[in-house]
Amino acid sequence: MARIAIAGAGLAGRLFAWALARAGHAVTVVDAAAGPFTRFDATGPAAFSAAGMLSPLAEQEQGGPQVAAWGWRSLQLWQGIVAALAPAAVPFRREGSLLLAHRGDLGTAQRVLAVVPGAQRLEEARLQALEPALAPGLQGWLLADEGLIAPVAAMEALYEATVNVTTAPLSQPVVWCWNSPAAAVRPGVVELENGACLHADWAIDTRGLGAAPALPVRGVRGEIVTLSLPSHGLARPVRLLHPRHRVYLVPRTPDEVAVGASEIESEDRSPVSLRSAVELMAAAHSVLPALAEARIVRLDRHLRPALPDNLPRAECEPGLLRLNGLYRHGWLLAPALVEQLLDEAGLAQVAQVAQVAHGAQVAQVAHGAQVANTAHLANAAPFAGLAGLGGITGLATLIKSTESLGSSPSSSPLFPEPSP
Ligand SMILES: Cc1cc2nc3c(=O)[nH]c(=O)nc-3n(C[C@H](O)[C@H](O)[C@H](O)COP(=O)(O)OP(=O)(O)OC[C@H]3O[C@@H](n4cnc5c(N)ncnc54)[C@H](O)[C@@H]3O)c2cc1C
Repeated sequence: MARIAIAGAGLAGRLFAWALARAGHAVTVVDAAAGPFTRFDATGPAAFSAAGMLSPLAEQEQGGPQVAAWGWRSLQLWQGIVAALAPAAVPFRREGSLLLAHRGDLGTAQRVLAVVPGAQRLEEARLQALEPALAPGLQGWLLADEGLIAPVAAMEALYEATVNVTTAPLSQPVVWCWNSPAAAVRPGVVELENGACLHADWAIDTRGLGAAPALPVRGVRGEIVTLSLPSHGLARPVRLLHPRHRVYLVPRTPDEVAVGASEIESEDRSPVSLRSAVELMAAAHSVLPALAEARIVRLDRHLRPALPDNLPRAECEPGLLRLNGLYRHGWLLAPALVEQLLDEAGLAQVAQVAQVAHGAQVAQVAHGAQVANTAHLANAAPFAGLAGLGGITGLATLIKSTESLGSSPSSSPLFPEPSP
C-alpha cells in the first residue's frame, strides 16, 4: 500500500483518487474549492461545466491521432468505471455523434472532414431517420461509436464512491480536504499555502490552472447554455460545422439540451456575454428548430486548462505524477492518461491492504499522508491548517474504518474493464 497525496479534486484528481483507493492505497486529496459540488460560478473544477462529449474522431481536428488513440482507450475505460460507480446514476452512451453543415457551408465542412478520418457521409433520408427533429436540408456525417457522459453526475459519483465506503473493493475512504490550496507539489510532498505539508510516497499534481506558474498552463474560456424543452427529440450529440460558429448540441436528458461552447483566449471568469449567448442559441436553433420554445435553464462558463501546444502533459518522476493541459478534451482523455501514469509509476498493481493499529499509528502508518508536524492525532490543533472538513473528519473516519481491516489482498483491477 502506498501513501498518496493529490493536489486538485477536479476530473483528473477524482479519477486518480478513486482508482488508487480501489487498489487499496491510502489517499488524501486537497483542493482550493469550498467543497465537492459545484455552484456553476466558474470556481472549482472546470469539469463540472463540460458538455461531456467523448469524441475521439471529431477531436482529431485539434489533437491529431494521439488524442484519438487516448480517446478510444478512455471510452473503453469509462464504460467500466460507470458500471462500477452506479450505471443508473451516471448517464453514459455510445451511440455515435453527428457532424452537420448547412448547404452553404460545405466548403468549411470539407476542410474539417479532411482532418477527421472516419466520418461517414449520411444520405439525407438516413440523417432524418436517425434524428427526425433536425432541420431539413442539413448535410450530415456519422462519427460512429463516439460517446457521451454526464459530467456533473460522474464528478459527484466519483467523490461519493470514495467517502461512502461500505463495500469492497474500496477498503478505506479517501480523505478530502477543501479550502486547502496547494502552493507547491514536489516529489513526495504537497505543500499547502498555509505552510503545512502533506508527506506521501507519491504526490500527484492535478491542479489544472492552479499549477501555474510551475507549469505554463493558461485558461481558455468556454461558455455553455443549458436549455429545457420537453421531448426535444435529439438522440445524440451533434456538431455544426460553420465558418464562424463551432456549436454543438448535447442531449442531457429527453427534456434538456446543452449548447456549447465558445472558445476564447481569455481567463475572464465573468458571466456569459450576450454575444456568445446569442450566437450559440441562434446556431442551435438553426439545427433544431423546436428549440425556439425552449427555456434557458443556465448560462455557465469556465476556463479549460491548456498548455502552449494544447496537448496534455502526463509526467512521471520518482515520487511525483503530473497531469495537466487537458484543455477541451479532459473527459475524453483523462481515464487513459491516468491509467498510463499509474502504470508508469508502478501503482497499477492492487495494493496489499495493511493490518493496522489504532489512533495516531493509523494516521502515520496506514494512511501515511499525514500533515507535517502532527505529533498525535488526538490533538486537533496541527490540523487547523486544513480548514476543510476532510482533515479531521476524514482521518477520524479512516481510523474507524481501518480498525476492522483484514490483511487479505484485494483482487479488483485498478480500472474495471467493461464486461464484453
Ligand atoms: C464549457 C466547457 C465545455 C467542455 N466540454 C468538454 C467535452 O465535451 N468533452 C471533454 O472531453 N472535455 C470538455 N471540457 C474540458 C474539460 O472540462 C477539462 O479538460 C477538464 O475539466 C480538465 O480536468 P482537470 O482535472 O485537469 O482540471 P479541473 O477539472 O479544472 O480541476 C482542477 C482542480 O484543481 C483545483 N485547484 C486549483 N488550484 C489549486 C490549488 N492551488 N491547490 C489545490 N487545488 C487546486 C480546482 O479547484 C479544481 O478542483 C470542457 C470544458 C469547458 C469549460
